[in-house]
Amino acid sequence: MADLAEPADGAGDLRIVVAGAGFAGLTALSELARLRRRHRWPARSRVRVTLVDRNAYSTFQPLLYQVATAGLTAADVAYPAWTAVRKAGAHLRKGEITGLDTDRRQLLLRDGSVVGYDYLVLATGVSAAFFGVTGAAENALSLYTRRDAIILRDQLMTELERRSAPGDTRDLNITVAGGGATGVELAGTLAELRNIALPEITEVATAHVRIASGDRGRGDDGIPDEEMPSDVTVWAAGVAAPEWIGKLGLPTGRGGRLRAGSDLRVAGQDRVFAAGDIAIIDGDPQPQLAQPAIQHGRHAATQISRLASGLPTQPFRYKDKGIMATIGHRSAVVELPSRIRARGTLAWLAWLALHLVTLLGGRNRISALVNLSWRYLTWSRGGGVIVGDDPGPAIVSQDAMARRETIDP
Ligand SMILES: Cc1cc2nc3c(=O)[nH]c(=O)nc-3n(C[C@H](O)[C@H](O)[C@H](O)COP(=O)(O)OP(=O)(O)OC[C@H]3O[C@@H](n4cnc5c(N)ncnc54)[C@H](O)[C@@H]3O)c2cc1C
Repeated sequence: MADLAEPADGAGDLRIVVAGAGFAGLTALSELARLRRRHRWPARSRVRVTLVDRNAYSTFQPLLYQVATAGLTAADVAYPAWTAVRKAGAHLRKGEITGLDTDRRQLLLRDGSVVGYDYLVLATGVSAAFFGVTGAAENALSLYTRRDAIILRDQLMTELERRSAPGDTRDLNITVAGGGATGVELAGTLAELRNIALPEITEVATAHVRIASGDRGRGDDGIPDEEMPSDVTVWAAGVAAPEWIGKLGLPTGRGGRLRAGSDLRVAGQDRVFAAGDIAIIDGDPQPQLAQPAIQHGRHAATQISRLASGLPTQPFRYKDKGIMATIGHRSAVVELPSRIRARGTLAWLAWLALHLVTLLGGRNRISALVNLSWRYLTWSRGGGVIVGDDPGPAIVSQDAMARRETIDP
């Protein structure tokens, strides 16, 4: 095996590139900075860390439901990548990754430029998996980005406003495809919007807004195995790696995720790590959640510092910190690894506190606290929701969404 302590070009900086400013990428970034502060690098190494992301911000996905249901602004869940790189003494390269040349150690960006690396952490997350269902990609909305959340919110509000017109008695049929945690949480939050805020914000009767959710064929969950009307369809039926990951020439596993060894290096690669949702560890797959992503990011950073110091890598061990989920006001479930379970208001307060604490940035925490307090304390008394624009006809496909330019902050 090559001497990994030597920079690729034999001189100059040791180039570490972190691809993706999500939970995994930002944790890797801050851990690299922490290790540098603690002098966990060979004394002669000058380290240059670069964060690459297609956006100039990091999105806090766990609160996207609240953005999509008009209780938080998109800015509440977006943390500037510049702030993260400045704190970590790193550099930011905004660009969309489209390819990888492992021989030359270069990430390829859509604008034709390349970013060279000596060590690379791929932490670019996943997106909706449509499983080849006819029309799903073209007609359903998804909820993985800040942009997705704004479009869903605007579409919901526009449909409601249209039905407020005199003489319009049409039902609004909302379908959440997928009966997993994402589908249940989203359907619960939509129901909260309908049951609490709707009577105060439009003239549409609650009974005219129907929310169906679940997996195909499960009649009890609301989605029958037959044709049904749907004005707004949200796809929450599963996730997979985006198509470009499959073209990188790296080994992939279930859902197109990158196959990683126990130390998180991509199978067959000495210098490329996979972290977060995009990684699937051979024989030890973890759930695609924030905690595994955070722990992966930290581990990948530590292994890079070990390799640069001439030390062998260590296997990743996941520390289970429990799970929590909410389906609306005062309704949540918390499960700790010690088998302690809580439900109802206590669990919901714990959910709220954890999400506010984990949000990056003081401004985001304060604005999210204000907006969530507003949502939960005033909605039932006509407190008002966050409004946007009419998204226009049928702006639903992911490609169309990507081309959409006029998104409010
Ligand atoms: C709606 C929703 C609610 C959720 N709720 C919870 C929850 O309550 N609890 C929980 O633990 N988990 C939750 N999750 C899951 C959790 O958010 C993910 O597991 C976590 O974000 C994964 O982190 P990551 O760093 O792997 O990827 P991400 O956070 O997805 O970050 C990936 C980054 O890569 C960038 N990127 C992607 N492609 C490219 C490219 N081609 N070029 C450049 N940059 C690129 C993206 O812009 C993004 O910044 C939720 C997810 C969603 C969608």
